[in-house]
Amino acid sequence: MRDHFELRDGDAAGRIGELSVPRAGVTVETPALMPVINPNIRTIPPAELESAFGAEILITNAYIIHSGEDLRERALAEGLHGMLEFDGAIVTDSGSFQLAEYGDVEVTTREILRFQHEIGADVGTPVDIPTPPDASRERTEADLERTETALADAEAVDTGEMLVNAPVQGSTYPDLREEAGRRADATDLDVFPVGAVVPLMNGYRYADMIDVVAGAKRGLGRDAPVHLFGAGHPMMFALAVAAGCDLFDSAAYAIYARDDRYLTVRGTEHLDDLDYVPCSCPVCTDHGPDELRAREDGERERLLAAHNLHVSFAEIRRIKQAIRSGNLLELVEARARGHPRMLDGYRALLDHADRLEREDPVSKGSFFALSAESARRPEVRRHHDRLGRLDVTGRVLLTRGGAPSGDDYDAVWRVVPPFGPFPRALSETYPLTATVPDRPDVAAQRAAAEGVCRVAAANPDADLVLAHEGWAESALARLPDDVAVESRSARSDPADGGE
Ligand SMILES: [Zn+2]
Repeated sequence: MRDHFELRDGDAAGRIGELSVPRAGVTVETPALMPVINPNIRTIPPAELESAFGAEILITNAYIIHSGEDLRERALAEGLHGMLEFDGAIVTDSGSFQLAEYGDVEVTTREILRFQHEIGADVGTPVDIPTPPDASRERTEADLERTETALADAEAVDTGEMLVNAPVQGSTYPDLREEAGRRADATDLDVFPVGAVVPLMNGYRYADMIDVVAGAKRGLGRDAPVHLFGAGHPMMFALAVAAGCDLFDSAAYAIYARDDRYLTVRGTEHLDDLDYVPCSCPVCTDHGPDELRAREDGERERLLAAHNLHVSFAEIRRIKQAIRSGNLLELVEARARGHPRMLDGYRALLDHADRLEREDPVSKGSFFALSAESARRPEVRRHHDRLGRLDVTGRVLLTRGGAPSGDDYDAVWRVVPPFGPFPRALSETYPLTATVPDRPDVAAQRAAAEGVCRVAAANPDADLVLAHEGWAESALARLPDDVAVESRSARSDPADGGE
């Protein structure tokens, strides 16, 4: 067990955790957003990040500090916390990004880690090799070998109380990400950034991003804190948290502000296109779009950066509350409606429902079926697995509504899309307390039919009668032949939903 990371609560594969950062003497609650500080450009001073935004942790680049003589001397003399005037935890990057951009850096893992330790970083990073998406498998494997050497070098450096990142690379090969995750997990290093995903996010390739994260997570232990490196857009935080990411870093707040781009949880807007500001942060409460446009460049950039940060931190808080309330997937679902590529990301997440199911709490607040995707949620899968273990005998009516009078059944079970059938005694147990639409979509009907199949398969001697309300042929076609089917007109049963 890693004693510096404790899980407090969970929903899907998302979790609220506590990351102890001993060198800073702080405990950071995750999911956490780390604003990126460029040591040369301070759009918003680090002290203000702490006081006005509640930032507990930030990230800066030790390679940039190491490369500039003035910065290097200052950092060595004052320490990173003194130089940046920040009391929280400070993570430092190593130059891997520069390596990926420019093909070369002038430091080794041992040098840069010793330097990070000397300047007082709380979490350091070795010089791993970020392999971009869609690289050849050969190149990816060769890069991974070099990253593995970097991790071994990092383990050999005496870094005292400083935590050390163990990046997980592997391009867009989920199996290589998994293997890299397993190897990183086997080191005695502390935090696990999933690297080189920025091009995926910039290209709106959220489904590929989820497959990459899922691969890494399969290799990493559950107690591994995972940092989605370079992920700073609030629209994808909920999705990434639901996949099991704990840490995010945002350079986006400042970079986007420089180009007059305004972040929202539904995407990015350009200031020129805004007639209204859809936000109630202090910046947007005090300034309309015209006022923002009228400001001088530097001031406008600072205001937009502040808004971008406010909206990002607010989304992190919203996600934490969703985990506490047990409705993180409902939030992911809402975000998925913001952009078709986000919907792809959510669908990709549900492709990994078996893994989500293992981590998802058995009981939560409430389940809202909101779309066809809801039928693929881990709770539905778990219910189906349970149906295969329930015994029933004799003649059994499966109906959404109440028991019909005058009919002779040994038992009457409810059947609710997308879950399918269940004994009435389970009506008050999660997730069967779900709120579902009165007009189920075909995906929910098919999932419910799958539930009927599970009951039929487990109870070959039972005589099942399904009373459905206008289910689609494609759902009914899934039922075994020995299940009798009778149709009732939809939404006409007065007892419907009254249970
Ligand atoms: Zn705002």
